[in-house]
Amino acid sequence: MATVPRSHLSFSRGDDSSRALLSSLNGFVGGNLSRTPYLSPFGALLKLTRLNQFGRADLHAAFGFQLTSYEEASQVLAFSTKRLCNFSRSIDITPEARRGWRLTDWLPFQGDAAKGWKHCWRTRICLACAREGFHTWLFQLPWETRCSWHGTRLVETCPSCHRPLALGFSKGRPLLWCECGIDFFDRRTALKADLFPNRARDQALAECLDRTDVLRTTQHLLSPTKQSNASKALAALISGSDADSRIDKGSIHMFHSRASFEPDQQRSLSMLDKQLGGKNGSIAELPSSMIKPMREIANSIATRVPPGSLVPAEARRLIFDGFIATKAGSARADIMYLPVQTGGNRTYMFTNSLPPSALSTISSLIQRTRGKWRDEESVRQVHAALQSLLFRAYADGLRIVLSRYVPELYDDPRLTPWEHIPWVMVTIDTVGVSEIHIVWTRENLGGQLS
Ligand SMILES: [Zn+2]
Ligand SMILES: [Zn+2]
Repeated sequence: MATVPRSHLSFSRGDDSSRALLSSLNGFVGGNLSRTPYLSPFGALLKLTRLNQFGRADLHAAFGFQLTSYEEASQVLAFSTKRLCNFSRSIDITPEARRGWRLTDWLPFQGDAAKGWKHCWRTRICLACAREGFHTWLFQLPWETRCSWHGTRLVETCPSCHRPLALGFSKGRPLLWCECGIDFFDRRTALKADLFPNRARDQALAECLDRTDVLRTTQHLLSPTKQSNASKALAALISGSDADSRIDKGSIHMFHSRASFEPDQQRSLSMLDKQLGGKNGSIAELPSSMIKPMREIANSIATRVPPGSLVPAEARRLIFDGFIATKAGSARADIMYLPVQTGGNRTYMFTNSLPPSALSTISSLIQRTRGKWRDEESVRQVHAALQSLLFRAYADGLRIVLSRYVPELYDDPRLTPWEHIPWVMVTIDTVGVSEIHIVWTRENLGGQLS
């Protein structure tokens, strides 16, 4: 079994004089981070703790921050502004002044995905880069799968024992030293790498940040209120259809707008804005173009429920042609609210038959784009996306409500009640909305309809 080296400098917690001592020693071994301009703070921590033999217990004294027992260092430096600032201060770095130091510098969109991403975060490395103590935030982006220089797959677990990479450190070993004894860092390689800047890699990373800066001016992420599959959703959103093979298609659905422009789409958008664009009422009037498809959705689900599941009044409301076997009994209010309702020449739906997360995304998409509904392309894109969001949410709502009374729905893969959570990326250029991508992740029934 490998032994954990003892620290040659020992610190007591919160001892500021220790930190002053380090400064007076002109920094740490490997402390000249200007040679690796796009190193992530985690990369810096890796290099500094390993070359200077600090363990987890020294973090506060040496670097001004602590980890709780279940936290990963890379995760904390990615998402905790306060602890990143403390760490940066301890090694004399100003986060704003060092490009690529913050995780957000690498994100090609505006908008916040931190809530969900933080929870599915795993430290990810290139094995060859880790040997020399190099890590960049690029490795953590869910849509990146390989190291651009070594061409090898990025890994989140030890290739030998499959434990998460951060586990060794939380159990008292040096950073990136697995419990099975494998050390992913190599002191000699790191010291050698420290002598020679890797200009080709720095150039590639600088260009990557340039491209990201440009994309961030046009791409806006509308993240859902429920974010349990954040990294999967982000990978699918950013890498698009070419990533299909890497994504578990069973739980991800993607949207690509193909519909053409129709003059009445503009009017439909204004109506949806009024009904769903802000504080939503319990009843929403629907544009006439949406009525037929929504009736068809209700119809196709209701005709597939097992015979005898519905009472005649419910069947009449939900199924517009054809006949299904019904049972005796009185209609259940929840089911009676599901179909779109007609009054005079207007048609309405009850918004509480849609999952709340989809409703709030519909509302955000309207708010984010409504100032751009002037050109045909913007109208076409937003209209198609809203239809798609609304239809899927409606189908989910129908299955979720029906499953309360018809448990057999859980046995049929086409009727199983799922809640699909939409993640939306909107591209807005100087003209208007040029592109909308949606991916849906599937939730194992969080369908708490109010
Ligand atoms: Zn690499
Ligand atoms: Zn291992």
